[in-house]
Amino acid sequence: MKILISNDDGIDSPGIRALARAVSDLGEVTVVAPHRERSTAGHSLTLHKPLRLEEVEKGFFAATGTPADCVYLGIREILKEVPDVILAGINRGANLGTDVHYSGTVAAAREGALMNIRSFAFSLVPVPGDENKPMDFGMAAGWARKALELGLDVPFPKHTLLNVNIPNVEGSQVRGMRVARQGFRYYANEVTRRVDPRGKPYYWIGGPYKGFEKSVDCDCNAVNEGWVSVTPLTIDCTHNDFYATLSAAQRTNGL
Ligand code: MN
Repeated sequence: MKILISNDDGIDSPGIRALARAVSDLGEVTVVAPHRERSTAGHSLTLHKPLRLEEVEKGFFAATGTPADCVYLGIREILKEVPDVILAGINRGANLGTDVHYSGTVAAAREGALMNIRSFAFSLVPVPGDENKPMDFGMAAGWARKALELGLDVPFPKHTLLNVNIPNVEGSQVRGMRVARQGFRYYANEVTRRVDPRGKPYYWIGGPYKGFEKSVDCDCNAVNEGWVSVTPLTIDCTHNDFYATLSAAQRTNGL
């Protein structure tokens, strides 16, 4: 089995090392990851400037681009063939609910899903109230491997991926794996305005996490209750009910 691994925290992050180690006996592992952190890069591709690629150690490549660039280059330039599996992560921090739209980790997996490669995104989620607990990527990698085994056991429909979130609790406290829907997370939409030494304003955007929309079967709730959430995602974002009502309205109004 050919396994391509990427992330958005960068080639030197402990999460990607733990993931590569945990699956090394399952096949031939190649790691292609950004040379610096690219968290919240989303699914952007670098089309307007050159990319550099360096093999920093055997089988580990650092690229100057985004996570999606890394998967693109990994398939077409490094492997020169389609891998059996793409793994992204293990991310430092949650990729739950609406986070998936901003996440570079999920984007790396989505880049694989576009090509119908079996793709997985893994994230380690600090527990609210215990954010200073050291991130246990070794524990998370064990669960990543279990989720991979689950994913290898089922056929993937076209253009789908699995988004896996692991709570950063003591290994013995994890309650197990739970298949969950994508939820909805809230953040404080803050803008902090400051003034630079030359008198010009600059801005920091983004605020702290504010909780999730209550829903029993969503990923946010599963992780909150101590489960590893496994969420099947698809790329087609069409809302089917809205599609139907909009089409009907268009016909009714003769527009
Ligand atoms: Mn990240």
